[in-house]
Amino acid sequence: MNPNLNQTILNIKGIGEETAESFAEMNVFTIEDLLEYFPYRYEDYRLRDLADVLHEEKVTVEGKVHSEPSLVYHGRKKSRLTIRLLVDRYLIKVVFFNQPYLKNKIIMNETITVTGKWDAHRQTITANEMQVGTNAKAKDFEPVYALKGKLTTKGIRKFMNLAFKQFGNLISENLPVTLTNKYRLLNRRDALLAMHFPQNSEDLKQARRRFVYEEFLLFQLKMQALRKFEREHSPGLTLNYDLIKLKKFIESLPFPLTNAQKRVVNEILTELKSPYRMNRLLQGDVGSGKTVVAAIGLYAGVTAGFQGALMVPTEILAEQHAESLKSLLDPFSIRCELLTSSVKGKRRREILQDLAEGKIDILIGTHALIQDEVSFQKLGFVITDEQHRFGVEQRRVLREKGENPDVLFMTATPIPRTLAITVFGEMDVSIIDEMPAGRKAIETYWAKPEMLERVLTFVEKELVKGHQAYVICPLIEESEKLDVQNAIDVHTTLTHYFQNRYNVGLMHGRLSSDEKDTVMKAFSSNEVQVLVSTTVVEVGVNVPNATMMVIYDAERFGLSQLHQLRGRVGRGSDQSFCILLAAPKSEVGQERMKIMTETNDGFVLSEKDLELRGPGDFFGKKQSGIPEFKIADMVHDYRALETARSDASILIQSQSFWTSPDYVHLRNTLEESGVLEGEKLD
Ligand code: ADP
Ligand code: MG
Repeated sequence: MNPNLNQTILNIKGIGEETAESFAEMNVFTIEDLLEYFPYRYEDYRLRDLADVLHEEKVTVEGKVHSEPSLVYHGRKKSRLTIRLLVDRYLIKVVFFNQPYLKNKIIMNETITVTGKWDAHRQTITANEMQVGTNAKAKDFEPVYALKGKLTTKGIRKFMNLAFKQFGNLISENLPVTLTNKYRLLNRRDALLAMHFPQNSEDLKQARRRFVYEEFLLFQLKMQALRKFEREHSPGLTLNYDLIKLKKFIESLPFPLTNAQKRVVNEILTELKSPYRMNRLLQGDVGSGKTVVAAIGLYAGVTAGFQGALMVPTEILAEQHAESLKSLLDPFSIRCELLTSSVKGKRRREILQDLAEGKIDILIGTHALIQDEVSFQKLGFVITDEQHRFGVEQRRVLREKGENPDVLFMTATPIPRTLAITVFGEMDVSIIDEMPAGRKAIETYWAKPEMLERVLTFVEKELVKGHQAYVICPLIEESEKLDVQNAIDVHTTLTHYFQNRYNVGLMHGRLSSDEKDTVMKAFSSNEVQVLVSTTVVEVGVNVPNATMMVIYDAERFGLSQLHQLRGRVGRGSDQSFCILLAAPKSEVGQERMKIMTETNDGFVLSEKDLELRGPGDFFGKKQSGIPEFKIADMVHDYRALETARSDASILIQSQSFWTSPDYVHLRNTLEESGVLEGEKLD
């Protein structure tokens, strides 16, 4: 950012090759890197009232020595020094292990400060630090750094100090004065100093507040600049769809669109017609009717003379979508085809050729669709379903397929707003926030595993009515093998339980796609009444006659995933049920089960999930593309995020941002991050 700080840390007097090597392991190369190597936590030496301290918490107290120290040796090296200490109104015990030399420093009726772990039951502090005299503690907070190589916390503090002394005056402000004034933010130099050498809690709070805002603002500026330039500098397609045909198609649907569907369809159509390239996220809870919206959009593109593609994460889902699109669009002479990795040989060659010649209107498939061998004659519109499995990069690759097609990303995992504006900050967002009329809320119950017998009796009541049931087996993250074994065991148990009455099917990720297909078909056609499955049925699958779902070990799933799974039932007009078999040990686990029984609203659950599990876990695994912030926390600091977002949007749209010297630092940051490349091409 500031070129003067962009020099090697070797220029700090006191840092030699060896130290620099250790710093390199922490990705600290320049002075600026060093100054921005923030502590990951602080040792808190503030005095506290013991009544507020939890068992086993670390605490610092000041008190009057109330007994002569007693020193006991166990063997030659081990010792235990005990005193009584009067802290405010509490008389407590303080124990020092293996520090016999302290005995002579501790004098009756003198005041000392000790730091250690509080045992609330024994009213004892096991201390590792002590100072003599009143107000003896050096400071309220001491930073704790993540360490690599030969570095110690003390060493880092020393080098940090040297860096400030020698180069501190080079630290310059990167935020415009309008914003630092508006929010009364510490200047960058003071804030850096306070992060590393906080005098008190207020100091630390203000420093943190500044960097949270700075991080969010820079991030939002990047996202929004990216969006602006992609919009202005990538030529989009203008899809002049045939409104009359489209109206006919919508009228042919077996149901009227909900208001939310209508609104979203309009947003999509408007953008198809515009010369800008669509880069839009469509969020809608499970069952809110996204498929038909996709069908309308794709059909619109076809009436404008373009091909369309629908991309989904699994083969099962691809097959289902292909079927439903075919049944909707066949009557309108639209040719839809399915392309997955299991479409092979002659059939595959045929599809690829027809696609290249423009004989196929809409192609439905898995990721196979973005492979190089697949080329369209005239691709105008791409829709991906369940896109949260793609990161920013994959989204970009997809947009670059064909001649800049419009792209719509659909997701059934409602994404909390905070995440939506960070992870998808470069996109426009449409939301279907209304369910089709007449849906009954799924009744959800939480049962202990020992109640399995009763649960099965309940399941059978539904089967007797001619309905069907899903039984979901836990996902064992470490091992797909165990996962499958688990499902096989449950399948064996239930086959035995329901023998001569109902057929029990088995579905898991190790089946070939032919086998999966056979199982799914048997379930769809009600030849199989109970489907035991791993989470492969998670997304999209639609069997409206299934009204019952049992989820084993439900505590192992995230709320969003449970909600997704549960969304497989409640798709018809009959009352549906979901039973969570779970024995969560932690309070958080219990709270999660409880909230599942209380709400069917995916957005409420997703907010809760984010709150309980944090952003890193929200999408599961490492596939999310969630940016990592050094200081800021999307959940905790969501207000700052909102503020930074709106500030960034005002800045990006204002003329002065691009010209005024007030913003030169911010512009440089954008330039360095490469988001302005679109501009340079012109
Ligand atoms: P999702 O958003 O989960 O992909 P789907 O598109 O699969 O939802 O729709 C769920 C079910 O609701 C389907 O059976 C679909 O036919 C039906 N559906 C969609 N829109 C409406 C509507 N406006 N009125 C009634 N039923 C609808
Ligand atoms: Mg769907």
